Amino acid sequence: MPESFIQHYLRSLPAVDRVMQEKTLTSIAAEVPRTLVVEAVQEIINEKREAMRRTAGEEELKNIDASPSTLALEVLERIRDKMELNLRPVLNASGVLLHTNLVRAPLAPEAVEAVKNTAVHFTNLEISLKTGRRASRYEHVEELLCRLTGAEAALVVNNNAAAVLLALNTMAAGREVIVSRGELVEIGGSFRIPEVMAQSGAVLVEVGTTNKCYLRDYRRAIGEQTALLLKVHTSNYKIVGFTASVEPAPLVKLAGEHGLPVMEDLGSGVLIDLTRYGLPPEPRVQDSIAAGVDLVTFSGDKLLGGPQAGIIVGRKKYLQEMKDNPLLRALRVDKFTLSALEATLRLYLDEGEAARRIPVLRMLTGPVGPLQARAQKLAAELDKKLGRHYTVSVSGEKARVGGGSLPLVLLPSFQVVLESLQISAGELVQKLRKARLPVIARVKKDRVLLDLRTIREEEDGPLLETIVDALT
Ligand SMILES: *Cc1c(COP(=O)(O)O)cnc(C)c1O
Repeated sequence: MPESFIQHYLRSLPAVDRVMQEKTLTSIAAEVPRTLVVEAVQEIINEKREAMRRTAGEEELKNIDASPSTLALEVLERIRDKMELNLRPVLNASGVLLHTNLVRAPLAPEAVEAVKNTAVHFTNLEISLKTGRRASRYEHVEELLCRLTGAEAALVVNNNAAAVLLALNTMAAGREVIVSRGELVEIGGSFRIPEVMAQSGAVLVEVGTTNKCYLRDYRRAIGEQTALLLKVHTSNYKIVGFTASVEPAPLVKLAGEHGLPVMEDLGSGVLIDLTRYGLPPEPRVQDSIAAGVDLVTFSGDKLLGGPQAGIIVGRKKYLQEMKDNPLLRALRVDKFTLSALEATLRLYLDEGEAARRIPVLRMLTGPVGPLQARAQKLAAELDKKLGRHYTVSVSGEKARVGGGSLPLVLLPSFQVVLESLQISAGELVQKLRKARLPVIARVKKDRVLLDLRTIREEEDGPLLETIVDALT
């Protein structure tokens, strides 16, 4: 294609001012800063120019619509994108409860209300209302945590990685910490026990083998330099087959004989008995405390269902040392986290209430029957509204917990299945992800699955609306 031919088309591109005069854009002048509109017009014109330069033939060139009215519409779309907040709500139809990249779970309504109040008003974060004197922000949830776990004292930091770092630094900097080789976990790609240990200044002493570790392995490793015995919950994997590991109770007994403390990094931090809901047993925080473990660390936003936080519970004298550690200032939590956590923990005073009100627990423990009914209803409506280019059906695949918790558990669930007669499943999930209210779905055997285990009932309406909007 001759260069002059492309030049002809390039010259036909309207000027910025011409596009600005389109009614589509003059009508938004009151709401959007002019500089932002001009910038978007320039962007769209530049993109058209680039598209023209890339074309291979005249047919293709002719198909590029660069009329002022079309450009104005594209500009409007671009401005809408720019005005959206980058961080915003999505619908998690992935069927993964604690989807790591949607980090991590929605809060209970009580926690949302607490955060809202804290945001709008001043708070008594660091003042005692009784005495009028300066007080510690950490006290607001300490009593509650002690009551729920049976521990003597508690402390909350930014996340569980920070909790482990602070605990190791306080308890064992410059000395040795004994850990089983089968428990040297990596979580979420960046939390690795050996590396956190190195950062804390403690020296890692590995014992046992990958699949087997006995009490005598720990006993042999104890020496002059030992500061702590550490157990780490293998949250996101299981070693099965020919295995052995040491339970907290015998480890506590051995440590006691040498005057040493035991710490356990539980990861998820479950406070309720999951077997009551037909799930496999998961060690509860209060079980570890009851077994005599001196320090337990866990996350606020895994199966606990609260805000991102790291919680340390255990013996008062150790917790006091952590409160006095200057490192704490760098790891401290803010008032929003503390208020969301307090409201979430209060729900645990009644286990049934916690299971009903906390979204993660509700999704984890809820019966499958209602999911089937909702999937069928949603599928019927989508079938009606999407038209003949799509087929809609229902399937009963399993959902997962994810987020480094209960790796082997498959949860019964139901999905709405979408197939397009014109575009691939890959393109379909992309369209859903780019919707104004983004929907995160999964693809299986070239079909798109929308799992209802991770969609709350009150989200069914918005889900239907956003799918219809995105696909028609
Ligand atoms: C998840 C996890 C962590 C890290 O917790 P964060 O709250 O994500 O920082 C540490 N240890 C274990 C065993 C975990 O499962």
